[in-house]
Amino acid sequence: MSTAFAESPIKAQDEDQHYRFEDHPILARQKQQESNARSYPRRIPLALKRARGIHVEDVEGRVFIDCLAGAGTLALGHNHPVVTDAIRQVLDDELPLHTLDLSTPVKDRFVQDLFAVLPPALSAKARIQFTGPTGTDAVEAALKLVRIATGRSTVLAFHGGYHGMSQGALSLMGNLKAKTPLGALLSQAVQFMPFPYDYRCPFGLGGEAGVRANLHYLDNLLSDPESGVQPPAGIIVEVVQGEGGVIPAASTWLQGLREITARHRIPLIVDEIQTGFARTGKLFAFEHAGIVPDVVVMSKAIGGSLPLAVMVYQDWLDTWQPGAHAGTFRGNQMAMAAGSAVIRYIEAHHLVQHAAEMGQRLRSHLLALQQRTPQLGDVRGLGLMLGVEVVDPAGQPDVQGHAPHDGALASRIQRECLKRGLILELGGRHSSVVRFLPPLIITAEQVDQVARIFARAVESAIVQR
Ligand code: PMP
Repeated sequence: MSTAFAESPIKAQDEDQHYRFEDHPILARQKQQESNARSYPRRIPLALKRARGIHVEDVEGRVFIDCLAGAGTLALGHNHPVVTDAIRQVLDDELPLHTLDLSTPVKDRFVQDLFAVLPPALSAKARIQFTGPTGTDAVEAALKLVRIATGRSTVLAFHGGYHGMSQGALSLMGNLKAKTPLGALLSQAVQFMPFPYDYRCPFGLGGEAGVRANLHYLDNLLSDPESGVQPPAGIIVEVVQGEGGVIPAASTWLQGLREITARHRIPLIVDEIQTGFARTGKLFAFEHAGIVPDVVVMSKAIGGSLPLAVMVYQDWLDTWQPGAHAGTFRGNQMAMAAGSAVIRYIEAHHLVQHAAEMGQRLRSHLLALQQRTPQLGDVRGLGLMLGVEVVDPAGQPDVQGHAPHDGALASRIQRECLKRGLILELGGRHSSVVRFLPPLIITAEQVDQVARIFARAVESAIVQR
């Protein structure tokens, strides 16, 4: 392991311990005062005091390995010195902390750093738009961009997709939980398409046959004058669906999607908000398939743990008018400085390669565990974005012979991990997928430790049934 990676001064936890969770006064007040819509604290009832590297420490002095990492935001882990130094430098230089979308040397450097790592086929004719600082707002910008450029109004999205929580982005979401209570969304101009979810293939086929059927269906829908589907302004896709259950799209499918969208002159929007910046073992996940999107939306890791979001797109789409996507908070200098530091560190310390190797190591552990655990139906993902779909082997198998989802067991596994000092999140259908999103600086020893804790947690959760 390279010594260049930050060592955590926070003492790692004893793997044999079992934390107990009783409401600390901070958590009791949170429960009482915060909205019913709060989400993570329900499954991860921790009040955090400090953090470094892959570790967080709560107010009770308990240490946890953070394999949620700000939902994939913390590429370099918590408080990496290059990130905190970059933030400090902005303060020391008395840079304006608020600049709207005016330029500064920090912003200029950030753009140069980002463009330098984009695939040349994209950067050659790219434009960048700084959006409001959430992934959701970058998605909103992308929707406007392609609608204005094409003069069309509808958008195609995929079953299982997650693009954010504003009403436009929510319209693109597969999961119905947040949509259904709203009734009609503001934008209903979305057509959903089957995603190539290999383990639960929407065509009941899986493998290359599933990919071929999927692409044929899409091409036919766009070509058939009686499909009822208007030519869309764009198609938005995640290369690995994150919240949807860590579902990677096959490269052959992405290549087919790119070919079909190009042929039908439909801008292809790739949402790299979660997959971006080395997470999947490539700097951008679309590089696995060797495709070049028309629009890429980025956030999370790009701000080095501070809020920042951008959209990069090919200049033929740049037909919108000044002010078409304004926003007050588009000039966070500390986030841009931190983002530059992250990009440079990823490059200098070969974190793309490291993420691929650590991902492979974790995957091997999970596959070995799966061999002796029929409840772990599918182990999948790319790089350090991995998921395990938890199933009920006693349930009725589906058309592909796979046992049904078991969200209750996944939830018990998550809880048993937490008791042992490992923070993991759930995703996917019925919250049945246990997700691993550790910081990319995780070491081989730490990967082994995560796998050991997970294996014990799984064992213990199964016997509780
Ligand atoms: N797109 C993807 C792929 C995401 O994973 C997320 C967040 N989980 C978003 C968009 C929305 O980003 P934000 O929560 O910053 O609005």
